[in-house]
Parts: sequence; C-alpha cells; structure tokens
Amino acid sequence: ASGYTLLRDPHHNKGLAFTEKERDAHYLRGLLPPASIRQELQEKKLMHSLRQYDVPLHKYMALTELEERNERLFYKLLIDNVEELLPIVYTPTVGEACQKYGSIFRRPQELHNFLTGLSYIQVIVVTDGERILGLGDLGCQGMGIPVGKLALYTALGGVRPSACLPITIDVGTNNEQLLKDEFYIGLRQKRATGKEYYDFLHEFMTAVKQNYGEKVLVQFEDFANHNAFELLAKYGTTHLVFNDDIQGTASVVLAGLVASLKLLGGTLGDHTFLFLGAGEAGTGIAELIALEMSKRTKVPLEEARKKIWLVDSKGLIVKSRKESLQHFKKPWAHEHEPCNTLLDAVKAIKPTALIGTSGVGKQFTKEVVEAVASFNKKPLIMALSNPTSQSECTAEEAYAWSEGRAIFASGSPFDPVQYNGKTYVPGQANNAYIFPGLGFGLVISGAIRVHDDMLLAASEALAGQVTQEHYYKGMIYPPLSNIRKISANIAANVAAKAYELGLATRLPRPSDLVKHAESCMYTPYYRTYR
Ligand code: NAP
Ligand code: MN
Repeated sequence: ASGYTLLRDPHHNKGLAFTEKERDAHYLRGLLPPASIRQELQEKKLMHSLRQYDVPLHKYMALTELEERNERLFYKLLIDNVEELLPIVYTPTVGEACQKYGSIFRRPQELHNFLTGLSYIQVIVVTDGERILGLGDLGCQGMGIPVGKLALYTALGGVRPSACLPITIDVGTNNEQLLKDEFYIGLRQKRATGKEYYDFLHEFMTAVKQNYGEKVLVQFEDFANHNAFELLAKYGTTHLVFNDDIQGTASVVLAGLVASLKLLGGTLGDHTFLFLGAGEAGTGIAELIALEMSKRTKVPLEEARKKIWLVDSKGLIVKSRKESLQHFKKPWAHEHEPCNTLLDAVKAIKPTALIGTSGVGKQFTKEVVEAVASFNKKPLIMALSNPTSQSECTAEEAYAWSEGRAIFASGSPFDPVQYNGKTYVPGQANNAYIFPGLGFGLVISGAIRVHDDMLLAASEALAGQVTQEHYYKGMIYPPLSNIRKISANIAANVAAKAYELGLATRLPRPSDLVKHAESCMYTPYYRTYR
C-alpha cells in the first residue's frame, strides 16, 4: 500500500525517476515499468509532448495535470523554461483558463496545504474574482489567478510550494452569462456588497492572522478598484498585505521607466506622462513615479504629480470636471481644459511617455501613436492591459506607426518584430518581474508590514539588472530567463529595506543578503528516499 500511496502523492512522486533502491524500500516493484530514468530525461520528454499541443489551453491543462501528479517535475519545467511556459501558466492563457474554469476544473489543487500547513503558510494570494485581468467579473472562476501567481512565487521567487495558499472568496458574481452557465462552479447569486462584504473580508483577514501569524503575506489580486484601494488602506496598517495590481504594477513599470532613461536621456522629472486608464494600475503607477521623482529631486509630491496626467472613460481628468471624482483620482485632477478623447489629450499634453492601463484593447490607434511620435524622438509606449486581446496596441503597431522609434513594452508578451530590416525586441512590463522577488524578500526577512520604500527598492533592483547589452537591443527589462537571479537581487534589496526600517523580524540580519536569498530558494530537484 505504501508504494501506491507514494505514487499518488504529488509532493513525493518521482514517477520513473525512483531508483532501484527506492523501489525496493517503498514497495514500488510491480507498480512501475522497469526503466529508471533521470529527472532531466523526464523533463525532456514532457517538454517534447507539451510542444505537440497547438492549443495553449491544452498545454495549460497538461501542466495542471503534471502539477497534480509530480510537483517537483512541474517546477523543474517551469524554472528551466520560463520564457516558454510563462505565457501558459500566466497571462494570456491563464485568462482563458479562468473563463473556462467551470469546464476544466478537476479537483482542488492546494487543499493539501490548507489542511496540513496551518503553521507554515508564508504567502496567500487572494481574489474575489471581480476584475480578472482585463476580462471583468469571473466570480469563483477567478481561482486560476491565485493558483497561477503562486506557481510563479515558487518558480520565479523561490517560495516553497507547501508554503503557498491560493484563496478565492466567493461572494457571488454579477456576470449574467456565468450565472446562466450550467457548468459554473460558484455561488449562483449576485455579489454581496457593502457591510456584508466588508464584514466577511474582515472575518477572513482576522482568521488569516489568527491561524498563520503576523508574518504571513497576503497578496490581494484582481479585486475591483471600488474595493481594492479600501482594503489595502484598511489592512496595510495591521497586516502584511500587498496589492499586486496597484503596487506590483507600479514597481515594475517604474523600473522600466528608470531603465529607459539610459536610452532616452534626462531624468524622470524631465518627462511628461499620460495614462489611459485611471484605476488601480494607472493611479498606482502614477503615485510611485511621483514618489520617486520627489525623492530624487527633493520637490514636494504635489509638484511631482503635475507631470503626470490620466485619462479615464470620461476623458482627461481635470479640476473642472463636474461629476465627483473617486478619491484615488483626485490627486491627478490638474488645471486644464477638458479633453474628451485620448487623441485630444495627447495633442494637448504632449507626453513623452504614453501608458495604457485601461483594460480595453486597441485604444492606441494609428493617430494616437503618430501624434506621440510627432513630438518625441523616441516615444515611450507601454501597453499594459492584459491579456493580449486587451493590449492597447501590438508591438508591431507601436514600431510601425512610430517609424521604428518607439521604445515599447507590454503587459502580455509579444514576439520580436522585424521592421525595415531591423529586429525590435519588445519588453514585457509584467508584474511577474517584481512580486515573486518582493514577496520572497518579505518572507526571508520576516517583515511584518509593506512600506512604499520597499516597492522603490524592488524597482531599483530590477532596473539595476538591465545591462548595456540589453540597452543595445532596445530592451528596458532584463530577459525573463534570468528571473531567479533577478528575484534574488530584488528580494535582497527589499529585505535590506525591511531591516533598515525596523520591520524585519528574522534576526540577526544576514550580512550578504543576495547570498542568503539564493540559499533560501526552493529548488525542484528530487530528494532521495531511504
Ligand atoms: P481598473 O481599476 O478597473 O481601471 C481601469 C481604468 O480604465 C478606469 O479608470 C477606467 O475608467 C478606464 N477605462 C476603461 N475603459 C476605458 C476607455 N474606453 N477609455 C479610457 N479609459 C477607460 O483596472 P486596473 O486594475 O487598473 O487594470 C487595468 C488593466 O491593466 C487590466 O487589463 C489589467 O490586466 C492590466 N494590468 C496589467 C498589469 C501588468 O503587469 N502589465 C498589472 C496590473 C494590471 P473609469 O474610471 O472612468 O471607469
Ligand atoms: Mn492582477
């Protein structure tokens, strides 16, 4: 019986990689074919079979199945093939997986950690499914996001899988299509709101601290903005919380901006930023840029903010706007004539950097890109909305419409583009660069609160990983293939800040934090069982 159980346990199963000795010791004889192979060969075989699928969702399902069968092998694949597999376990394919979660759902994946891991959960990613990527309210099916994010916490950041817990708080959904869908797996009711909603979340946050203590990191993910800012403000002073859509995005985009200065010249303060989209991502990024500007140049935050303009669904955000602004938009209401369209705003503001955080695809039209390109030698264009279908423009469009002058990055990946005989490598301004390293830095320092300076520290570490060779190719982010090294550097810089601010509890402080981070990272190699 022990052999059978071992093969069924994804945390211990090694499949054909069990050695002769292990097969004898654990009653595996007769349960496995005779061949004994190494993990590398298993990996080669699986990558080969994954590449046979044409449909990305089928790759996603095959990977999920692997995770349920052999966890270490799953992470070995992910770590060794980041650039190839990230678009599968993460944006864009994870978006499709969420949309179809009802049909592809097989069994709860992380139940094991929930039942046995009470004392050593280190990272929780939680969503209520109301704003999944740019896809809107997917209710309970948003679960694909916490599961995917935590896979990256392990593969990219080095947090042990057994220390991760994905949670979806199902308070209903307002998505009529899902409510009518016979395969829908969530509660068939409209979303709970107001006091009922906030009481439930409070119960959850209290239970988290009671069960897992002060040092467990709670990452809020894909909440709608009418709750996201409030939850972050409310629990930021009592819990170790972090909102990836607001803060992680800000940190990764700031890193790209700082790196791009090497190509554009000047300082952050010399630039004028225009955002399409004034929600979590847009205002989060705007605020961190202003903070960095004011720290560097010692101008007051209010002054720094004046270099940053945002457009929402009603046009340019200006002081004179009649309707009342949501509180997170207020700092960005500057003195200006109203502009109803993005194109008008571009012409009026003349930004050096155009950043898309609207969740709506194809908004950076030919006219818009041409306008930005008309008054910038090298226009900086970031189309951050996910998944690919929601991207404000494609890489090809950005390069073609700017005659190859744009510096371009996007939230979901685009392949390199050939334009006029030159190859352009678009950057992926994706949170995956930041949150795994940031979270790992919090974990290894035993931090008890997240401070804005830690976001700046993460950003600085990421920008520091872009080398001359990358700049030469027009890249403003380092290649994802080096992500474990990048994450170790981010973690070390974040941990250093936590110690400096007196927010770290793992004492004494290790002297070499990069080495320390590297040595704490989870590795997916098989263990030997005696
Ligand atoms: P959000 O809080 O809902 O904000 C969306 C904003 O876009 C709102 O201000 C909204 O205007 C505005 N908007 C919507 N339609 C518009 C239109 N047609 N024209 C102009 N503005 C429009 O969402 P979010 O959390 O910021 O996320 C937005 C997008 O960013 C999503 O697609 C998400 O996937 C992506 N994102 C990417 C990354 C990354 O790593 N690259 C990270 C985080 C988020 P109103 O306020 O007037 O409604
Ligand atoms: Mn998100």
